Amino acid sequence: MDLSDLSASRINLMSKCARAYRYAHIDRIPEPQEGAKKIFGSVVHVGVQRWYESGRYQTEPLSKYVDACWWEVLPRDVAIALRHCIAAELGTHNLLQLIKISRPDIKQPTATKDYQKSQQFRSFLDAQDELTVASGRCEEIRWTSDENAHQAYVKSMAIADQLQRLWQDKPAPIAVEREVWFDFAGLRIHGFIDQIRQDPDEHGEVRVRGVDIKTGRNELTQLEAFVQVFLYHYGCMMDETLPTPERWGFLIARRGCKMQELQVDVERHAPLAEKIIHSVRRRVEAEDWAPSFGYWCKSCGFRQLCESEIGFWEFGQDTATLDLETDRVAA
Ligand code: SF4
Repeated sequence: MDLSDLSASRINLMSKCARAYRYAHIDRIPEPQEGAKKIFGSVVHVGVQRWYESGRYQTEPLSKYVDACWWEVLPRDVAIALRHCIAAELGTHNLLQLIKISRPDIKQPTATKDYQKSQQFRSFLDAQDELTVASGRCEEIRWTSDENAHQAYVKSMAIADQLQRLWQDKPAPIAVEREVWFDFAGLRIHGFIDQIRQDPDEHGEVRVRGVDIKTGRNELTQLEAFVQVFLYHYGCMMDETLPTPERWGFLIARRGCKMQELQVDVERHAPLAEKIIHSVRRRVEAEDWAPSFGYWCKSCGFRQLCESEIGFWEFGQDTATLDLETDRVAA
């Protein structure tokens, strides 16, 4: 197994559960709900990136860019499927909404005149074959049981509004979606830093902060947060083109865009990070894919597969902790 290119997220997955790592990166089994997670993460991240790259972030709504991403970053048939889902959710009796969705270029549709145009361009109701295929593709995306495409779309719009309120009057970030490569603990590591910002704080002092937008439904474990922030911080230190942030923040998008702040003390934290990475390396080299049970199992996309392979085990170990001596998670 090639260890020359490890990302912070792979290290994190391996630290959390080697079995899940094996399924995802050795067996390359697509995680059933991965599609929905990736789509939601992409539309928010790419939308923010394009908003800043447009140079018009101070005057234009972020939702415009996030909305465009729903249709642009997805494969065409998935985009059609999502439009279909949204239309179905809204109810086809809502003709004006349907026209707005099918013809975003019609700014203020009128039911009679524009309905003809929208029918000629794309008819949700008549293009049965296409929709059948598209609906199948939409099923494959496997949204979580309590969320569908329309709800995810609406949520992404709400997040866009909150991020806009947070950032529209602030200076543009120093870096957006910046890839960093660096060597640490004998490994070549890479990762994408969402943003490095230089905003004035509540006292008017300008501070350099790294920001990571989290669009997932689950909180990071303490170990995940530690590994990610330490590696990104170290990556910035090694990159001469980037300032090293004083603090880092996880912006928890699904929870009102609250910022969870952290600070890295390289001298104090490096030995611990090294220990975690050496442990990951040893286990990958030894092909030790033992499962680590914890509360994360509840949301693991491989849970069914894992359960069927292992035969019997119990969920609900909410008090799981990482034992750094044994590198295992104990309940
Ligand atoms: S269900 Fe739990 S133990 Fe099994 S692969 Fe997923 S995270 Fe690991």
